[in-house]
Amino acid sequence: MADEREDVFDKMHEECGVFGLWGHPEASQLTYYGLYALQHRGQESAGIACTNGKVMSSHRGMGLVTEVFAGDRLAGLKGSAAVGHVRYSTTGSSNVLNAQPLVFNFRKGNLALAHNGNFVNAHQIHDMLEKQGSIFQSTSDTEVLAHLIARGIYSTVTENVQASLGMIKGGYALVVLTDEELIAIRDPHGLRPLALGQLGDAYVVASETCAFDTIGAEFIRDVEPGEMLIINDEGLHAERFSASSREALCTFEYIYFARPDSDIDGYNVHLVRKQLGRLLAKEAPVEADVVIGVPDSSISAAIGYAEEARLPYEIGLIKNKYSGRTFIQPSQELRSLGVRLKLSVVKKVVDGKRVVIVDDSLVRGTTSMRLVSLLKEAGATEVHVRISSPPVRFSCFYGIDTSAREELIAAKKSIEEIREFIGADSLAFMTEETMLSAFGDTKMHHRFCNACFNGLYPTEIDARLDKLTMER
Ligand code: AMP
Repeated sequence: MADEREDVFDKMHEECGVFGLWGHPEASQLTYYGLYALQHRGQESAGIACTNGKVMSSHRGMGLVTEVFAGDRLAGLKGSAAVGHVRYSTTGSSNVLNAQPLVFNFRKGNLALAHNGNFVNAHQIHDMLEKQGSIFQSTSDTEVLAHLIARGIYSTVTENVQASLGMIKGGYALVVLTDEELIAIRDPHGLRPLALGQLGDAYVVASETCAFDTIGAEFIRDVEPGEMLIINDEGLHAERFSASSREALCTFEYIYFARPDSDIDGYNVHLVRKQLGRLLAKEAPVEADVVIGVPDSSISAAIGYAEEARLPYEIGLIKNKYSGRTFIQPSQELRSLGVRLKLSVVKKVVDGKRVVIVDDSLVRGTTSMRLVSLLKEAGATEVHVRISSPPVRFSCFYGIDTSAREELIAAKKSIEEIREFIGADSLAFMTEETMLSAFGDTKMHHRFCNACFNGLYPTEIDARLDKLTMER
């Protein structure tokens, strides 16, 4: 983790992506492609578990999907049903034991579990289970759920999954595979996304719809908050495992995480971002010559800003797509050059210009600070930073790593102090109200979780988790 924090662009950590498929002879191959499309949700580890109805085989490892499944790794994963996972650790340390899917064999057969999100009461349950003799191999929340399921008193796995979920609080999208069925679950608040699709006779579930497009599947619908889909050779059966709670879809999925070509709960991510950019231009106009965005996640908002402001949109920053997580960290002396390895300025676009740079979020302020200085070095006469979301003032406990609270610059500094810190000529964020208006229908507004902006958490938070995050 420490190394990551010193990454050349000092990015925050991302969360995970899940995928599941039932009823296709090439299940593991398709899951591989699905995970490939979800790679932006986590680059630390990847894994697939596959069943032929009797035998469950799996492989997981550290690295990108293409690295983990290099050579003929997929060839050994045979069967017509599979689940897969890409991970970036938000809780639990970074090692292969925490890679998913977690696969185990217990008295009711084989079980594979893959999970995106966080259980906010995992510590309490973990302690209770340990006191009762459970032995844990990993530090991930997912293993807590695996233990609960394995100890379940009911006769079917589905019932035990359902009973276990009753004990768990948090934000999660889960896929559970047995030799008989695939179970897909979205938390009662709908904090993490999960969609259902179809490929011929096969059913597919994925964190984001972009995975369906990649494998040629058709989107059917979003899994509803508090819903559990049970898919087997008889077809699909949907049931609710929880009474409806306040819906709390994560706005950060739209702002930063999800891929622009994905639709979540009826909204296309690119179009929401573009609208955020437009609203930002209305709310925080500035005299300038050119608008640029921070690749990749802010491009849509920058285009929206430029359109509304009637300013030229330009490509002012180029991202080196190959410098990802596997990129070897430069030595200490070279670290200051690191920023140029990851993002470079198109000098002729900004030289002598008043530049508006749009970013989707500002968390610790490191990205903006580095970019302002790069743009100025490249000859920009003024740099105006526009952020297409409100200031992040609170930690997220639901799977988005927004840092310990004391690292969140907006939790400690005023907007003017942040402007000074990043060295910009002006800085503006978006208000929460304006952000919500990007979703149109005002009836939708209460359906989102904006806890990272306003501290209103949709679930109780274990005081220990809070303390842990504070200390991290
Ligand atoms: P910071 O540099 O800490 O202010 O973080 C803001 C930058 O990181 C912006 O460019 C965002 O696009 C990006 N970002 C925001 N949240 C996350 C996250 N949870 N993981 C990775 N990057 C993020």
